[in-house]
Formats: sequence, C-alpha cells, structure tokens
Amino acid sequence: MLYQGFSKIKLNENFYKQNGEMHMKYLFFIMPAFGHMNPTLTVAEELVRRGDEVVYYTTADFTDGVKKSGAEIQVVDPIFNPLHYFQKEHPEALQSITKPPIHLMTQYMNEARLKAHELIDQVKAEKADVAVYDPMCVWGKEIIYTLDLPAATFYSSFAFHKEATTLQKWVDQYFLPEEKQILHLFTVAEKLNIVSTPKQFQYDAELFDHRYAFVGPLISNRHVPSDIPLESLSSRPILYISLGTILSNVDFYQNCFEAFGDTHWQVILNVGPRTSIEELGSTPQNFMIRPFVPQLEVLKHADVFISHGGMNSIMEALWFGVPTVAIPQSSDQPLVAERLTQLGLGESIQPDQVTPEQLRESVDRVSQSETVRVNLLAMSQSMQEANPVQQTADLLQSLAQQHAVK
Ligand code: UDP
Repeated sequence: MLYQGFSKIKLNENFYKQNGEMHMKYLFFIMPAFGHMNPTLTVAEELVRRGDEVVYYTTADFTDGVKKSGAEIQVVDPIFNPLHYFQKEHPEALQSITKPPIHLMTQYMNEARLKAHELIDQVKAEKADVAVYDPMCVWGKEIIYTLDLPAATFYSSFAFHKEATTLQKWVDQYFLPEEKQILHLFTVAEKLNIVSTPKQFQYDAELFDHRYAFVGPLISNRHVPSDIPLESLSSRPILYISLGTILSNVDFYQNCFEAFGDTHWQVILNVGPRTSIEELGSTPQNFMIRPFVPQLEVLKHADVFISHGGMNSIMEALWFGVPTVAIPQSSDQPLVAERLTQLGLGESIQPDQVTPEQLRESVDRVSQSETVRVNLLAMSQSMQEANPVQQTADLLQSLAQQHAVK
C-alpha cells in the first residue's frame, strides 16, 4: 500500500513545471556503517538522477560509496563513527560483541554531540531544504535540531513505538534498567519517518500514524568487485553464510565446516573483516571463504542463506526470495529472527544451541519447505511492487517542496 501522508507524485510534476529549474537539496546524516548507509545511498542515487542535490556528512571510509551514488560528501572526523570512537578511546567496549556498556555509549553520544557544534556554520551555509537523519546518528540530529532544519528520519530496522508490546518485551530482555534511557532516540517522530522494513514485517504496525512510511528494503545495484565465479557455480546448490559486516565467530564457522564440509552444497562463507582465513585452519574444499562478498549478487544465486539476522541481510534475502536460517547474535537480530519465523519465511536457531546437526537439519527444512517457498514468493512480490526507492524519493521531494513553498 502506498503511503498516504503526502499527496506526492502530482505535486512533484506540477511543482517542477511551475518552478522551472528549481531543484531540492538534501543533507544526509547517517550512522557510518554499511547496514545504515547502504539503503540510503540507493535513495540518494535516485534523488540525484531526478536532478536534486544530496550531500552526505560522513566519515572518509564511505567516500567511494557516496561518490558512486552521485551524491557529494563532506568528510567528518572519524570519531563520529562509534566503532572508531570505541577502538580509539575505549577498546575494552568492543570486547563484548553484544553492546558497549551504557556509560561508554553515553560518553560517546555526549562527546559526539558536543563535537557536532564545530559543524554548525558549515551545515547552515548549505541552505538545504531537508535533512535526513538516522536516529542513531546523534551528532547529525544535534546539528539538525540546533539549526531547526526540516527533517525526516530514516530507520534501517524496525520503527519503535513506546506502546509496542513485542518491542517492549525485547527492550526488557536486552537492556538493563539504566540503559533504557537510550531508547528515547528511537521514539522521536518527525513529519516524515521512513522505515526500510515493509509494514507486514514491522511489529505492532497499527500503532504507527501517517507520519511513518514503511517503504520496504532499498536494494541497490551495488558494484562490489569479487573473484567469486557466481555464474559458473550453478551445478551445485549454493548455501551462503554470513554474520554481516561487524560480527565474527570462529566457533560458528567451525560448526559450519562440520555441518556442510564435503556435502553437495557449494558454500560461500563471508567471515567479515575481523577473522583472518588462516585462523580457521584447514577448510573444506566445497567452501569459498571471503572477508567480504557482493551479497546482493550472491543472494541472487543462493538457494539457502544462514544469517546473523541483520535487518538488511534479512530484507535482501526476502527481496530475492531466499529461504533463511537466522542465528541472531546481538542488538535487534533476535527480533528480526523471531519475525522471520513467525511469518513462515525461515527458521531461527539460538546461538548457544548451534550444532552441526541443527544447522544441517534447519537448512534442509527451509530449503525444502513448500510453505516457506510460497510465503517468500508473496513477500518478495509485494516488496518489489511497492517500489521502495521511487516511493522514498517521492516522499522526500514532497517534504522538501512543502518547505520550499512556505
Ligand atoms: N554486506 C555485503 N557483503 C558482505 C557482508 C555484508 O555487501 O560480505 C552488506 C549486506 O548486503 C547488507 C549489509 O552489508 O546490506 C549488512 O547489513 P546487516 O544489517 O545485515 O548487518 P550488519 O553488518 O549491520 O550487522
């Protein structure tokens, strides 16, 4: 269903007719992490294609990605990236893969907010029509609120609502009482709140008002160079295994070797940047192991996916209709994995219950299940029909036009 909050497409056409060459300018303040940046880059690319201007305030490691989208980049201090901040200032915070302790999170947020004020004059001079921020980008929000810029939020996972019981249950399990203060970040609604999760997948979707647009996943044509000969692998079914771009778990990889080594599967294992392939010892012949893979290309060819349940990865798997076994490790992943199972789109295994047998059985079940196949087909079709990238660009243009008209 299309979002009803703005009367958009007609407005765009008329507006541009009446205003000749007038184009809009957007600033993007997004957490510098793949899972947060990737979906927004697709939208930036579309806005630029339509003749608008997009400027990202982000760290240098995203320079190539931003430039490829056609947007401009203003490089900010690496310290704005929480991972970089913790590596540099508090390496002990990264020892737990689940989450840094709250006092360090709070310290990071305070320092980032303070430092954000160094950018105020520069951002003001941009004279942007709309600023888009990710609720986790606390320093971007600080700038936007200081300058009172027209804003839209961008959620790369579930939208959050105080009264949402399922989300609340997770909050109670995942956060200590003193940590819950951090949640206020996610309950602020702007005039427009874009959620890259489809409404069918969102928990308690009925609680969200017209300001929330559940557009669905913003899948791009990312060009990631790779030596994986995907086209010529097709004689064997492909099993793709990944814990995303942040996590790494050598014990889990060893379980995968035992479960799928020397079987009929062609396994593509993404071990991420923190595990060296040598560390894994001898590896089965039917495994291709890489620190990073062109995930969208791999998913197009994959028959089954074992994932950490990162929202982007799961959305991408649903988009391409790939049956998935989720093994949630941290943050919102248990929620994503639970929803996947609830909707009959895959299965999940608790990380402490992973055994080679469990892995094999789950992979066999999801890959052979007719119910999963039918559900995936329906989900994938409805996501693609919603045309998330076009829809999001329309919504942002409408918001920009409303402010420009005033
Ligand atoms: N990704 C990729 N290649 C890899 C691993 C991940 O392109 O080898 C992309 C993946 O397609 C997704 C994002 O990185 O868009 C990971 O986001 P997700 O939310 O799934 O997990 P995170 O890495 O944030 O935990």
